[in-house]
Amino acid sequence: MSDHLRRRKAVLPVIARDLCTGCGWCVAACPDHLLVLEVDSQRRKAAELPQPELCPGCGKCLPVCNFRAIRLVKRVAQIPAGRA
Ligand code: SF4
Ligand code: SF4
Repeated sequence: MSDHLRRRKAVLPVIARDLCTGCGWCVAACPDHLLVLEVDSQRRKAAELPQPELCPGCGKCLPVCNFRAIRLVKRVAQIPAGRA
């Protein structure tokens, strides 16, 4: 098992776009540099986690958000193809 899978927790951050101000604090706080700021068609910035499978679920992005836009949710188990 790879190191990043070994330290992966059963939770994952989810960002509520309607609450996110695009301040970027969570982006700066992520030790694995997994969060990015995206700009939508109305030129609103919001944080996103484009590769959730790489996130270890450390939760460090959570307390830095002053707008309660991030919550940790249970990771949905990925069932390998052919095992369902
Ligand atoms: S810290 Fe909160 S408000 Fe700021 S970019 Fe991240 S999710 Fe959005
Ligand atoms: S839980 Fe940790 S690794 Fe995942 S996005 Fe937040 S700060 Fe980054």
